[in-house]
Amino acid sequence: MDLTYTEEEEDFRARLRAWLARTLPELPPRPDPLDWPGRRAYDMGWQRRLYDAGYAGLHWPADAGGQGATPTQHLIFLEETEKAGAPYVGANFVGLLHAGPTIASEGTPEQRARWLPPVLRGDEVWCQGFSEPDAGSDLASLRTRAWRDGDHYVVSGSKIWTSHAEVADWCELLVRTTPVSEAVPKHRGISWLAMPMDAPGITVRPLRTLAGSTEFAEMFLDEVRVPVANRVGAENDGWRVTMVTLSYERGTAFVGEVVACRRVLGELAREARKNGRWDDAVLRRRLGRLSAEFGALWRLTQWNVSESQRSGGVPGVGGSVFKLRYSHARQELYEAAGEVLGAGSLDLDHEWTLDRLSSLSYTIAAGTSQIQQNIVAERILGLPKGR
Ligand SMILES: Cc1cc2nc3c(=O)[nH]c(=O)nc-3n(C[C@H](O)[C@H](O)[C@H](O)COP(=O)(O)OP(=O)(O)OC[C@H]3O[C@@H](n4cnc5c(N)ncnc54)[C@H](O)[C@@H]3O)c2cc1C
Repeated sequence: MDLTYTEEEEDFRARLRAWLARTLPELPPRPDPLDWPGRRAYDMGWQRRLYDAGYAGLHWPADAGGQGATPTQHLIFLEETEKAGAPYVGANFVGLLHAGPTIASEGTPEQRARWLPPVLRGDEVWCQGFSEPDAGSDLASLRTRAWRDGDHYVVSGSKIWTSHAEVADWCELLVRTTPVSEAVPKHRGISWLAMPMDAPGITVRPLRTLAGSTEFAEMFLDEVRVPVANRVGAENDGWRVTMVTLSYERGTAFVGEVVACRRVLGELAREARKNGRWDDAVLRRRLGRLSAEFGALWRLTQWNVSESQRSGGVPGVGGSVFKLRYSHARQELYEAAGEVLGAGSLDLDHEWTLDRLSSLSYTIAAGTSQIQQNIVAERILGLPKGR
């Protein structure tokens, strides 16, 4: 594995740095983190700037509207944008980081032409309708039903924990197109649909998080009509398409956040020096260990990227190792932030306090740690299945 950057890659880095230095001072002020419509507008405005400058969908294939850059250039992009303090994907998370790549990989040419350019231009936001009240870790047990009526599916059921549902235009939706029976095991009767969020019959009820945000919602679907042409992959082959989505979600979607965590770690050390907490040897050791952990996570990312670059395909099962370690390291980082801040960590207006609260969800979102451990045990270490 070669982890050095080529001359061409370093050139790319220099051009990007110059563009960021010119562009970031022109950005409007960031909206309140709890103002979702404001955040949508801000995040999509940033996406539009990236698009106009030729940095949107860097690692997407050129025939999907992307720049056809190498995955390594994409890592450089993540490193440099984060170091410069540029906005993160935010409301465009699902569209850009897993629904879009799934359509790029599994969609027809018409589907790619319809859905990918608006994601890259920052015109349309996606959400993810996978989880249901009784189907989270055991996703294949989902019950939202879709039956055919001419050239439409009619969809009824409910979804939960749908991030960004309030501000989304499209939903990557999993539905049951064939009931479970002896002949059809539960993961064989599922289809992957692109559902327009303005279709009649959809009710979105926001859920408030510990941090006060309504970033996710319950969704109730009452005979929602979705064109059959919006199905990505074959009917009843949605489980295979879902594995593609999840491998992007776990393998690459959180990668940019590792750079952000490394930046926050540096800020914690600076703050601790300023407020006297640096004298605490236990805290210093903790920050040192976290620094090693995030350094290792960045190396792991480079390894995963270089692996998928070599195989020319979708990120592999190594994404589960990344997701597992990253979500725990993020929680430890913000616990350390609490120690650095001391009593100030109770101040809900402090960015680190809100991030600490939201970090608690990372070991659940995108698949819980226990499930990632099962995947690592069974699919990487080859241990026998637990059940
Ligand atoms: C911030 C956040 C955002 C989210 N956004 C979305 C979204 O946009 N769209 C979406 O569809 N979903 C979303 N989710 C839902 C998330 O994917 C599920 O919460 C997650 O998959 C866990 O499912 P569950 O909540 O049903 O828990 P359960 O599956 O009920 O699990 C409960 C506990 O049992 C453990 N467990 C279950 N089965 C096993 C097993 N076989 N072996 C060992 N332990 C097991 C779990 O690990 C967990 O600790 C989000 C969740 C969070 C926290």
